[in-house]
Amino acid sequence: MLCHGLTIRDPLSDRATRIVGSQSDITERKQAEQQVLRDAFHDATTGLPNRALFMDRLAQTLRRSDGSVASCAVIVVEVSRFASLANSLTPTQADHLLREVGERLAQTVVASDTLARLEGASFGFLLQGVSEENAVGHRALAIHTALKAAITLPGAQGLYVTVRIGAAMPNGSQRAEELLRDASRALNRPGTDAEKSVAMFAAGGMDDAVDPLALEQDLRIAIEAGDQLQMHYQPIVDLVSGRLVGFESLMRWHHPTMGLVSPMRFIPLAEESKLIIPMGLFALDQACQQVNRWRQLLPFAGALFINVNVSGVQMQEADFVERVAEILALRQTPTDALKLEITESVVLDDVEGMLSILSRLKAMGLRLAIDDFGTGYSSLSYLHQFRFDAVKIDQSFVRAMRQRPENGLIIRMIAELGRGLGCDVIAEGVETTNDVIKLAQLGCMYGQGYHFGRPRDPMSIERLLLPMREEPEVVL
Ligand code: C2E
Ligand code: MG
Ligand code: MG
Repeated sequence: MLCHGLTIRDPLSDRATRIVGSQSDITERKQAEQQVLRDAFHDATTGLPNRALFMDRLAQTLRRSDGSVASCAVIVVEVSRFASLANSLTPTQADHLLREVGERLAQTVVASDTLARLEGASFGFLLQGVSEENAVGHRALAIHTALKAAITLPGAQGLYVTVRIGAAMPNGSQRAEELLRDASRALNRPGTDAEKSVAMFAAGGMDDAVDPLALEQDLRIAIEAGDQLQMHYQPIVDLVSGRLVGFESLMRWHHPTMGLVSPMRFIPLAEESKLIIPMGLFALDQACQQVNRWRQLLPFAGALFINVNVSGVQMQEADFVERVAEILALRQTPTDALKLEITESVVLDDVEGMLSILSRLKAMGLRLAIDDFGTGYSSLSYLHQFRFDAVKIDQSFVRAMRQRPENGLIIRMIAELGRGLGCDVIAEGVETTNDVIKLAQLGCMYGQGYHFGRPRDPMSIERLLLPMREEPEVVL
């Protein structure tokens, strides 16, 4: 309401004698004003914040850090070959596509993020409170995953889109425009199309070394050199008793000039170049030696096992099963000491071929786990068909549960299904005591995550295990 008031004075004495006033309903005007404001800061097609609002929030975030390096990250996501894609669509369909991409991206957002449509088919995320490259990698993976399923457009066939993702984090006193430019530059490097990949802008003139081709070359050298790749191990724990039951082995690359490179970055590269084949055998060989040693060190923890990640590219090699058998024989490792982790999308690529390989591995006595369950093209029937021994619930579900307890329902469903099929159920990304309690209530038997311990080098793991030698049970 707009209120006006006016005093009427006596002309002779100048005393106030009356008040006249009016009230008018200005709802429409206010709504129009708000719309104008909204239009100025939002994109009409997707309803998302626009570039202006994004830049404003980014600038604010950088200012707030008060001289220290802000903990935030900028991710730029661009739909690959959108222009030619749009050519084959009507304008309405193209808008629909952008809206759908926007909605899928919005599903990966956490509370403090800003997601904006920057221009054309390019979207930007501003992540707050992020200080590790790893976290950016995980978000990129979530983005790739969210866009995996086909998009249906009115009057058209289902459409698959792929995106390129570039990211940058402040490392000094960059301004907002500079940070966005860095992320876009990373995105435009060749090779950023690969699934799971995110190109990270590296400051300090190391851009060349981050070129995927150069990085691939460095990876070849690393494999030859032998001392740059190392396996780290992360505990897997019984959620109810707190007992340590095993470890997952995760590869680390200590690059001579770039320092620690995240597996999210070098595994996709290794898969494309098939370097994952020797790397995977190295991981298996290391795990065999390690589990032998730890079983000796902790005789009471007789059933201790190590999970080894296996890439689909490895499995496509004709002699994969033989090579695995060779290593186990060489190291005299019992097959019950190892579990192979296979990602869901890999499993479903070639059902028949995979079925035969998996059953040969099982016939050897190896146990199999399906990794990142729920993020791929989950066809639940495959879980049964492939006779997995364990289901690893992807950490995105645990994160979602932390944000909204109702989201725990999905975990309960997967856990019930897994148990019904005779599988162990392991939750990934367990970060708090509350997670432990809730996940156990939802029917998960085991957990893995920062709450129990980050992936660590073998020496650090041993330092952790040694004091427990005399214990009847290792409780973390
Ligand atoms: P993954 O197999 O799903 O491994 C779990 C990832 O979650 C690891 O990331 C681990 O460090 C991270 N993680 C563990 N606990 C937590 C937690 O509480 N919170 C959060 N936010 N993250 C947690 P990492 O080590 O960066 O590895 C990423 C991926 O790279 C792995 O995902 C796996 O797919 C691949 N990878 C790693 N090592 C190997 C390997 O030797 N061979 C193959 N083929 N792939 C590997
Ligand atoms: Mg894994
Ligand atoms: Mg996983």
